[in-house]
Amino acid sequence: MLIDLLFPKCCPVCLDVLPPGKKLICAPCVKKMPRVQEPYCLKCGRPMETGDEWKEYCRNCEKRFPSFEKGLVYGVYHTEIMSRLMAQVKYHEDPQLLDYPCLDFAESTRELVQSFEAECLIPVPVHKSRLKERGYNQAEEIARRLSKIWEIPTDSRYLIRKEKTAPQKTLTDYERLLNLQKVFSINGPMKKYRRVILVDDILTTGATAEACTWTLKKAGVEEVYFAALSAVRG
Ligand SMILES: [Zn+2]
Ligand SMILES: [Zn+2]
Repeated sequence: MLIDLLFPKCCPVCLDVLPPGKKLICAPCVKKMPRVQEPYCLKCGRPMETGDEWKEYCRNCEKRFPSFEKGLVYGVYHTEIMSRLMAQVKYHEDPQLLDYPCLDFAESTRELVQSFEAECLIPVPVHKSRLKERGYNQAEEIARRLSKIWEIPTDSRYLIRKEKTAPQKTLTDYERLLNLQKVFSINGPMKKYRRVILVDDILTTGATAEACTWTLKKAGVEEVYFAALSAVRG
């Protein structure tokens, strides 16, 4: 196809240009994708720290159990491939690199996701000014790709970010979380959804996911699930 010649697709692992056609990754690289393997946290889905393999929940969840029902994570963030991929998508505006990881993630979780009976996917919002600067929200790029396979629509207008986050180092974790929650708000009617899947690019401490979950639950959402394309160990 002409479009492939004009905008060649690259392999998300080795970055070689792929031959025109439908392939999203080159064959030898399929195995190199750093997917989260067992043991992972049964609550948030992130890979466990070494030595914690016998545990059910990660250190983050032990510290503060998330309010979302369950999290799904695709890749291990602290790997050369995944951290580079996340940075490329965030700063170099190359969302095409997300095609394969999102497809692989969505297909491997399809049955489980169906059991959630979610009505929509909600990307973690970025502030308007950041959206202007970058041109897109990477969480939304991921949500749109997952949407197609899971056959669940994406609603990127319902949850919004009112302010930019200002880090306040003197606060406790809980105070910081309360502050973070003020950053998000609902744009639309209460009780619009009963079950949603919140989508983000990277799960780190889980504070953003928690603040978004609080906001959604306050708006009447009964069950919030969470999907992240990558996560740091915890
Ligand atoms: Zn490759
Ligand atoms: Zn966890």
